Parts: sequence; C-alpha cells; structure tokens
Amino acid sequence: MDNCLFCKIIKGEIPSTKVYEDEAVYAFRDINPQAPVHILVVPKQHIASADEIDGNNSGCVAKCFEAIAKIAKDEGLKNGYRVINNCGEDGGQTVKHLHFHLLGGVKLGEKML
Ligand code: AMP
Ligand code: ZN
Repeated sequence: MDNCLFCKIIKGEIPSTKVYEDEAVYAFRDINPQAPVHILVVPKQHIASADEIDGNNSGCVAKCFEAIAKIAKDEGLKNGYRVINNCGEDGGQTVKHLHFHLLGGVKLGEKML
C-alpha cells in the first residue's frame, strides 16, 4: 500500500527502532509508549485490520505470535505481558495496517475484559 505508514516503516522509508524482523514480521518500538516495553508487531503483508483476516492470510497472524513469544523473551518479560489489537473505528485503530501491541515491563492496570 503506497500511502500506509507501517508499509513505509517496513520498507525503511520512515525510520523506526527495530527490535525484530523475519520474512513475515517486522517489530519496532512504539513512538508513544504506554508501558516500559511497548512494541508494535506487524505482518509485512498489508492487511488493513483484524477484520480482514481470512483463510488466505491468517498464517501471518501465527507468525506475529511466534515473534511475540521471541521478543518477550529477548525483552526479559518473564512475569507476563499484554497483547492488544485495536480494530476499526470503535476499537480505536488509528493506523490501518494490522498490528499487535506488545506491552510489558510493569504490572499493567485496568482491563476491559
Ligand atoms: P493503533 O491506535 O492501535 O492503530 O496503534 C497505532 C500505534 O502506532 C500508536 O500506539 C502510535 O503511537 C504508533 N505510531 C504511530 N506512528 C508511529 C511511528 N512513526 N513509529 C512508531 N510508532 C508509531
Ligand atoms: Zn500497510
């Protein structure tokens, strides 16, 4: 996608603080961290949101979660962490490229569920 912020970050056209990369996944530190560790884990394939996951593209979601487990170990998140996906308008999604927030390094507060 030509005008997608995260596609540009993945291509290196916009700088990021990379923490992990493989053939399917790119992960970097959130520019506005909400916890001591706040990393965005992003499939390289442009998928606009979780609402567009189907049988043809769901493999990249598995790859994201494999990456999350690796990154969490690298970041020393021995005591746990939270993974969040915001989907669409009501979910508060601001960047329209599927991504998972990996948050940790502190006892996280209020949960909706
Ligand atoms: P969401 O609201 O779930 O779509 O999350 C988008 C996230 O992207 C927010 O947490 C932003 O702080 C983060 N973000 C926006 N621009 C950048 C950037 N250039 N580098 C790193 N993180 C960014
Ligand atoms: Zn994109």
